[in-house]
Amino acid sequence: MSPAPFRFCPRCGNDGCLYHDRKYWRCEACGFTYYHNVASSASVILETEGGLLTIVRAKEPRAGYLSFPGGFVDPDERAEDAAIRECREEIGLDVAVPLRFVGSWPNDYAYGDVLYKTCDLYFSARLPPRPNQARGGDALGGFRLDPGEASSLRVVPFEAVADAPFAFESARRAALAWLDMRRIESTQ
Ligand SMILES: [Zn+2]
Repeated sequence: MSPAPFRFCPRCGNDGCLYHDRKYWRCEACGFTYYHNVASSASVILETEGGLLTIVRAKEPRAGYLSFPGGFVDPDERAEDAAIRECREEIGLDVAVPLRFVGSWPNDYAYGDVLYKTCDLYFSARLPPRPNQARGGDALGGFRLDPGEASSLRVVPFEAVADAPFAFESARRAALAWLDMRRIESTQ
């Protein structure tokens, strides 16, 4: 099934572009071929007191559900830099580097009339102490949220990861993998 309602060839205007092999459109008239490649995203799993820091998504798809700070990798950008940039843009946080690679998982991202297949890369970083934590205040205070991206922050307790309302299963799988890494390291 075609991931987008594209019919007309962008080169010759022929009505009859067909989607092939879950990968590309081809115009039968002029041979123009367009590959619908997998898009990369990069996100950061942030450990905080008793759980993982997530944002409540402010925008579709899956508004109101949880995700880790992150987003699509820009052209010519390293995934690590995308993850750092998205943290800064979405929650106003400069994460401590180097980031640690947790893994990658495939995902579906429906936006507009197009279904994007993505490869979601997850990194982890330690959450630096917040100024108001030192004063005994709210651990979630002091972040500068982009209201277009994150309506609020939420800590998912470690024991609740399996059932938390994540927007995307890739985030849950990454969080579970991160918990496994943590468990293995704690026994070494
Ligand atoms: Zn054509």
